Amino acid sequence: MRRLAVLGRPVEHSRSPAMQNAAFTALGLHGEWRYEAIDVAPDEFERVVRSLPGQGFVGANVTVPHKSAALSVADEISEVVREIGAANTLVFEPGTIRAFNTDAEGFLAALPERPAGARALVLGAGGAARAVAWALLREEATVEVWNRTPLRSQHLAEDIGGAPVDEPEVFAYDLVVNSTSVGLADEDPFAELPLGEEAFRDGQVVVDLVYAGGPSRLLEAAVDAGATTVDGIEILVRQGAAAFEIWTGRPPPLDAMRDGARGG
Ligand code: NAP
Repeated sequence: MRRLAVLGRPVEHSRSPAMQNAAFTALGLHGEWRYEAIDVAPDEFERVVRSLPGQGFVGANVTVPHKSAALSVADEISEVVREIGAANTLVFEPGTIRAFNTDAEGFLAALPERPAGARALVLGAGGAARAVAWALLREEATVEVWNRTPLRSQHLAEDIGGAPVDEPEVFAYDLVVNSTSVGLADEDPFAELPLGEEAFRDGQVVVDLVYAGGPSRLLEAAVDAGATTVDGIEILVRQGAAAFEIWTGRPPPLDAMRDGARGG
């Protein structure tokens, strides 16, 4: 049995095990591969990671709060990981831990069209926002970054590119991405983020990385305004599909992964 896991805290609500195991079942690999969730405290992260290969694990996904730690535990990091400063996928090979970041690639794959030339507003300046901004800049979008703590959006812009913005005119953007954690604990996005329920318009693409069961209030407002929306489950599926391909070398069965992630 080849074992995989998502390492995080909290991690019990992760949809990754259902999604990845659905992929193995769809390809007839469920007798050979298994994916589970492991709750790991920050001060235990390195010890747990180093113990995994000895227990039959060939790789892992890494989620909040371990994405920066994943970079330091790795022996080899991809160019994308180095530039973004965070990893979400590990591969265990004899004597070597390799780190990848599939959040950037997954985000781009989930968009309805390539964002070249688009004017994009990225909300947030944490690990997810860094991956989103990096991906958009690589595709030659114009990126502006708003964050509750302005110093962090300034740092993101210095490290990755784009421009910090304090009071964004949301209507003016082609693409708006919520990469804050607002919505995860049922916070009101219209109170916490620099936009109101009337902020969106027809022709915009609005993405919410947060998934917390059911459509987010942000995306409901975007749909009402006629915008095209991408939810956090689709982002999860696309980053998971990229990780699946890294581990197995096989094309990911996207529909099965979507059904697994959505609990269908
Ligand atoms: P992170 O590094 O902890 O960053 C959190 C971000 O949210 C920061 O910019 C923080 O602003 C902001 N924030 C938190 N509470 C806020 C509030 N009440 N009002 C305004 N801003 C607030 O987390 P992350 O790794 O970037 O992840 C962000 C979110 O994306 C998480 O919910 C995560 O689950 C989600 N995500 C989803 C996927 C997916 O596959 N769907 C992939 C990656 C991440 P400050 O700097 O001011 O604290």
